[in-house]
Amino acid sequence: MAKDEVEDVLPDKDAAKGFYAKYEPKEILGRGISSTVRRCIEKETGIEFAAKIIDLSNDTHDADKKTMLEATLEEINILRMVAGHQYIIELHDVFESNTFIFLVFELCKNGELFDYLTSVVALSEKKTRYIMRQLFEALDHVHSHNIVHRDLKPENILLDDNFNIKLTDFGFAKLLQPGEQLFDLCGTPGYLAPEVLRCNMYEGVEGYGHEIDLWACGVIMFTLLVGCPPFWHRKQMVMLRNIMEGNYSFASPEWTDITDAPKDLIRKLLVVDPKKRLTIREALSHPFFKLMESKERTFNAKKMFQFAIVCVRAMVRIRRLRFTPEPLSVHVARIDPYRIKVLRKVIDACAFRVYGHWVKKGEGQNRAALFENMPKTELKHIYVNKLSR
Ligand code: ADP
Ligand code: MG
Repeated sequence: MAKDEVEDVLPDKDAAKGFYAKYEPKEILGRGISSTVRRCIEKETGIEFAAKIIDLSNDTHDADKKTMLEATLEEINILRMVAGHQYIIELHDVFESNTFIFLVFELCKNGELFDYLTSVVALSEKKTRYIMRQLFEALDHVHSHNIVHRDLKPENILLDDNFNIKLTDFGFAKLLQPGEQLFDLCGTPGYLAPEVLRCNMYEGVEGYGHEIDLWACGVIMFTLLVGCPPFWHRKQMVMLRNIMEGNYSFASPEWTDITDAPKDLIRKLLVVDPKKRLTIREALSHPFFKLMESKERTFNAKKMFQFAIVCVRAMVRIRRLRFTPEPLSVHVARIDPYRIKVLRKVIDACAFRVYGHWVKKGEGQNRAALFENMPKTELKHIYVNKLSR
């Protein structure tokens, strides 16, 4: 960034005082690797904001040979370039002191998509469609400025009062020059695209570009639908190999209730070759999103009538349900309760209620562990011994 541009962004050199004069800091909303985010109130208006406070006191060079100050100035620059989109976080104010930078953002009262997902275990197809469409629209805006985000994940997608998304954390985002390729290894392991790993493992291979964000969208969409990430393995090396080979599946029981359209979209996003991966426009015109449009836009009296009949019949059936309970084999319930949808939902919900706090941010790994339902070999052994006694 040019020197006078920096001056333009941060005119007030004694701005820590400036921040406290204008805002009253409140509780911590979240923490990142190098920052703390606090709710704060603008004294003059009483409006709430979120202040990202970046500590520069131990400023060292990162992998990219940039200091924290330089990286933050680039983040501010990019935030200003992408400003004005309904699904992207709005930067309201900036302050700088010798040891801290304060970025004041609009407040997202409903927090991270990550925490929302943990509280509900998985999202319905309808909710996933709602969130993914907004994410693709936000990303389309970002990419139209030749910017690649590089750290898309549910922790960096915030939810406002109406549960609409606000894409945030442009700390790894990068403005690409025409034809430029990137080689840095940055982002979060479970969301890394194969080409990012490949160009860091082998000499003389091509770098990467915008397509890596679409790969991350595929990982996010998979995770939203079933609550569990696609490439997870407790050994990170195996997970990275799974990513490079595009090795994931829809075989887990959660996928049985999910229709083909979202699976097809995920399949076309998680394509190892970035040139064959869907573009944002292609993703937005995928049948998964078309479904919503056609349903929302056209009113069809005949279909409406048919739907009413189905509803009435369903209500009658529900009222009769207690007289005709579904046959539930005690044997299956004991041996493999996870196969039965009702029990599966109860088991997952219980696991998340007890261990939800244990799901680590930035990893997505323990989230996957909560879905592991195979008995550990050694425990199985003890169990079998006990039973045979
Ligand atoms: P980092 O670059 O250090 O990861 P982020 O910008 O992602 O920082 O912010 C860290 C966390 O702070 C977010 O994941 C979120 O929980 C919380 N946070 C950030 N901005 C806001 C905001 N505008 N409203 C509410 N919470 C926020
Ligand atoms: Mg973050």
